Amino acid sequence: MDDIFDRLAKSDFRSRFKLKDKDKLYIKEKGLDTIRRHAEDFIAKRIAPADILNDGKQTPMKGHPVFIAQHATASCCRKCINKWHKIPCGRELSAKEQEYLVNIIMQWIEKQM
Ligand SMILES: [Zn+2]
Repeated sequence: MDDIFDRLAKSDFRSRFKLKDKDKLYIKEKGLDTIRRHAEDFIAKRIAPADILNDGKQTPMKGHPVFIAQHATASCCRKCINKWHKIPCGRELSAKEQEYLVNIIMQWIEKQM
């Protein structure tokens, strides 16, 4: 998993994403367990289905720290997940794949904190 963080660090686009003070405050207020549940929920509803009509646009650039983390870790849409994490588009994500993405998102958030 460190390898993916090394690769992401070499991307100017991905490394541009950072948590702002208000994101960090929100995470501290909610606690990491709650943030993880939010991440699981976003991945399950917005990323995991086989067919996503607006793929590439389903993850806003702000509004929730997990959205920022998704852009930073290339787990924002199926095209990016295919390119960076080698998980094919066009089929539902398995529970294991969803857990893998959530783990990367949470690792990134913990590094930022
Ligand atoms: Zn994307």
